[in-house]
Amino acid sequence: MQQINHFVNGELTSASDRHAPVYNPALGEQTGQVSLASADEVRQAIANAQAAFPDWAETSPLNRSRILFRFKMILEERLDELARVVSAEHGKVFEDARGEVIRGMEVVEFACGIPQLLKGEYTDQVGRGVDAWSMNQPLGVVAGITPFNFPAMVPMWMWPVAIACGNTFILKPSEKDPSAPLLVAKWLKEAGLPDGVLSVVNGDKEAVDVLLTDPAIQAVSFVGSTPIAEYIYRTASEHGKRVQALGGAKNHLVVMPDADIDGAVNALTGAAFGSAGERCMAISVAVAVGDIGDELVEKLAEKARTLKIGNGAEKGLDMGPLVTKEHLAKVKGYVDKGVAEGATLVVDGRELKVPGCESGYFMGGCLFDHVTSDMVIYQEEIFGPVLCVVRVPDYVSAVKLVNGHEYGNGTSIFTRSGGVARQYVRDIQVGMVGVNVPIPVPMAFHSFGGWKRSLFGSNHVHGMEGVKFYTRRKAVTARWPEGDLGAEFVMPTLK
Ligand code: NAD
Repeated sequence: MQQINHFVNGELTSASDRHAPVYNPALGEQTGQVSLASADEVRQAIANAQAAFPDWAETSPLNRSRILFRFKMILEERLDELARVVSAEHGKVFEDARGEVIRGMEVVEFACGIPQLLKGEYTDQVGRGVDAWSMNQPLGVVAGITPFNFPAMVPMWMWPVAIACGNTFILKPSEKDPSAPLLVAKWLKEAGLPDGVLSVVNGDKEAVDVLLTDPAIQAVSFVGSTPIAEYIYRTASEHGKRVQALGGAKNHLVVMPDADIDGAVNALTGAAFGSAGERCMAISVAVAVGDIGDELVEKLAEKARTLKIGNGAEKGLDMGPLVTKEHLAKVKGYVDKGVAEGATLVVDGRELKVPGCESGYFMGGCLFDHVTSDMVIYQEEIFGPVLCVVRVPDYVSAVKLVNGHEYGNGTSIFTRSGGVARQYVRDIQVGMVGVNVPIPVPMAFHSFGGWKRSLFGSNHVHGMEGVKFYTRRKAVTARWPEGDLGAEFVMPTLK
């Protein structure tokens, strides 16, 4: 069984006496145990990051970018190796894990442009002989706390931009699938990243609480469920830190009566059941507008019944298992609840068995029809392969439904009308919006983040929002007078 440690000050270490099991969810077997850092171990990592900060902040953006560029070359060469590690501990199919790594790599590519991105503004001659400019400086030691569902990509939403800006970074990944970030940290060292610039501490609440309260930590980025996001935002803010905390989701895809129905069905199938629904941008609600409901449900049911499900390490599959036995039980519990609440369970995946993987945490795709907004299966994030269809009479009711939900992460509309699509983009209170695309995940050079209870804090992650989050602005006014100008007692108005 593999012992999974921390990566601190350039080496794999652990003095932890607490551990958590790590599983291969397709086989239902424990494959390793991860160290859970004590508060002292986290403080040691912070001290190392503090010691590494001054020199890293002084390193020119161009040289920081060159290290990231070398890392990107390594990552590109070893993409499959990292994807295999992700697939083995998370369960998602290998090709999907590859996609995750590539989407993470795109943030590294964005961060390689940091000399351009960090440029400030300059005004010559704001007054006679006076110039003014602004510059962006790093914050110091910053931390990231990440969820299980994208163990490679979500940390890469954070650390490439943070370290490119000159900060040092401490990552606390999910204890459910901790191996991918450790591999990444080793490859960064190989690319020339100085020790202490990026550390990985594995752990649970004990480790997180140190990151939220230690005075040396300047900013905290979090991605995970809403109750924890709220806790992170509140606690770290109370301790004077800059915080961005991305939470849960319930993403709606609105199908208008004029939509290309087969296109919408394909989009819904991939977006609802891909990665077993364990994506914050998964579509978990299909909103059938007007009289499109019967045809939509019939076609979705056919797709949900024929999903290819198995061990994610094998080729040609649509979906793997859920991440843990406990999560599987929770998702099945939601399906039981939906039946009890009176929704129509059109496709029931609860009893699926995968030959050769009888102990794996599998379930098949589930499809509910006639779901209403007062049902728990509509209100709560299920985070599994369960798609709910809500029928509404018209566009206005669809918008009211989506805007009435507490989450506002992503949404999409399928229509052939440019006017309706444009209106939807403007009307909807959601952070990321798609038109005739299944999952509107923004590219690395745009920013990612939701509205309402899907994001606590004011900055999205990556893109220029990331650069803003990880830097402090400084505005400078300077003159070089010849001779004594005398004392000025009134507010200077530069002439
Ligand atoms: P989670 O909230 O359980 O865990 C996230 C992180 O918080 C982990 O590192 C975990 O160790 C830590 N944590 C858990 N409980 C804690 C506590 N009591 N105190 C301090 N730290 C704690 O989330 P998860 O189950 O790993 O991930 C799934 C969730 O993440 C879903 O809700 C999903 O929507 C969300 N998510 C959101 C986005 C987004 O961009 N909005 C992206 C990916 C995942």
